[in-house]
Amino acid sequence: MLIKLKGGKVFDPAAGVDGKTQDIYIQDGKIVKAPKQDAGVKIDKEYDLQGKVVMAGAIDMHTHIGGGKGNIARILLPEDHRADPVVRGQITRSGCGHVMPSTYVTGYRYAEMGYTAAFEPAVLPVNARQAHMEMGDTPILDKGGYVMLGSDDYLLRMMTANKDQQAINDYVAWTLQAAKGIGIKVVNAGGINAFKFNQRQLDLDEKNVYYDVSPRQVLQSLATAVNQLGIPHPLHVHGCNLGVPGNVETTLDTIQGIGGLPMHLTHIQFHSYGAEGDFKFSSGAAQIAEAINKNKNITADVGQILFGQTVTASGDSMHQHANHQFANPSKWVCMDIECDAGCGVVPFKYRDQNFVNALQWAIGLEIFLLVDDPWRVFLTTDHPNGAPFTSYPHLIRLLMDKSFRNDMLATIHPEAQKMTTLASIDREYSLQEIAIMTRAGAAKLVGLHDRGGLSSGNWADITVYTEHEDRQRMFEKPDYVFKDGQLVVKDGEVVKVTWGTTHIVKPDYDASVEKDLKKYFDRYLTMKLGNFKISDDEFTEDGRGSLTEHPLKGGAA
Ligand SMILES: [Zn+2]
Repeated sequence: MLIKLKGGKVFDPAAGVDGKTQDIYIQDGKIVKAPKQDAGVKIDKEYDLQGKVVMAGAIDMHTHIGGGKGNIARILLPEDHRADPVVRGQITRSGCGHVMPSTYVTGYRYAEMGYTAAFEPAVLPVNARQAHMEMGDTPILDKGGYVMLGSDDYLLRMMTANKDQQAINDYVAWTLQAAKGIGIKVVNAGGINAFKFNQRQLDLDEKNVYYDVSPRQVLQSLATAVNQLGIPHPLHVHGCNLGVPGNVETTLDTIQGIGGLPMHLTHIQFHSYGAEGDFKFSSGAAQIAEAINKNKNITADVGQILFGQTVTASGDSMHQHANHQFANPSKWVCMDIECDAGCGVVPFKYRDQNFVNALQWAIGLEIFLLVDDPWRVFLTTDHPNGAPFTSYPHLIRLLMDKSFRNDMLATIHPEAQKMTTLASIDREYSLQEIAIMTRAGAAKLVGLHDRGGLSSGNWADITVYTEHEDRQRMFEKPDYVFKDGQLVVKDGEVVKVTWGTTHIVKPDYDASVEKDLKKYFDRYLTMKLGNFKISDDEFTEDGRGSLTEHPLKGGAA
């Protein structure tokens, strides 16, 4: 079956195409070259896209859609289920939930906004099977996970014992393969563990009292491992001191301390706070943006907050514990997770008349607008922590429409207005820059070699919009979304339910690494090593999942 998308305005930064009118051809799920005029090739289906905007399917490179903390959030918030029920359709299933929707609803809503892939950033190795099963239950989207290390007892023991980098590399590669991830994430490096020893904060050079290891050392070891193993996605870092006024200094230090290695700083908005002014809370966005602009090894996603009810769900039990006093509604969960890590779930209601919340909103937008290179900054709300993912079209409008942004700015807490430079920033994102941030750049960052672009050979994940001055309206409701060449959304509604693939990488390790690990599993963990490792057929045995392995970076094994 040959499909022709005729005459759309194509925004494909991966191929350097910026709004040029061109045709796209799809065959067997992939984008193919235009057939030769005289070859007598029959077009089976043609879509007239004259005047429409055509982009690759959007990719959310950081969104909490799988894993235990999502289920805790769902259990904690029955009122959220009641507030947003989705009734069963002809081809779609029922579900519910606004801030943490059920799996099916998550897949439908992402697809209905033109997204075709989403990556869960906090897969605890010990919970990886559950996280993959939940993502496997999320229709249409491709998915993948970043495997969380850095507060795990095994790594910290290795570091205390001064094991060499090769041993750490083997352990990292083994864990990534066992948990079927595409990247390595570290959350409050060593801090989740330090919390278990009653430390209530841990700065970059502070030592864990039990292991005598600092966050800086953990970050360096893991970033080196990721680099030497050739994992395309840089070490994904949730820094120290999340949400703490004055943490901008720690974040700047973290950037300097990584010694030029590739590093991705996630939800950087939560790590860009000064401690100036009457309220001892100020914006560090300008310093952070300057550091990102200068250090080309650094990428960041913003973790924008948007006003309204949400829930925060994080592995950072240390700071979730500290923030439980702000829980709204007043209920929360903090838990320990075996020897791996912990987590905390705290509902939040961000209010525009609250000084801190209002300034957080402005800080996120300042970072978006002050980082020059759209290939190195990514559109996230850290779903659901800053806001549910369904608010992306609104966020895009804030970035693309200065007068809309300034109108909103004029309504927030007056003291926060005085503490932000937002009103003086003229920048408006272009469609091409949005396509970089949410498509080409995201695919490159995650290491997807055949997604995020519209050249022949790529999988046909394609979104078509009607251009509209109101960018929120435009991005809320695409005309068409194709997933692997199949029409899955028409006029903003799911018309076909498919099942995406799970993206992974498989860096090499020395098999003898299992000798020590097996002893460790037998002695300390509830699970046997053999059960811990997820096999390939677990993704395919129900007949709807698949695995896609991506190449490692050049030179690596
Ligand atoms: Zn996150």
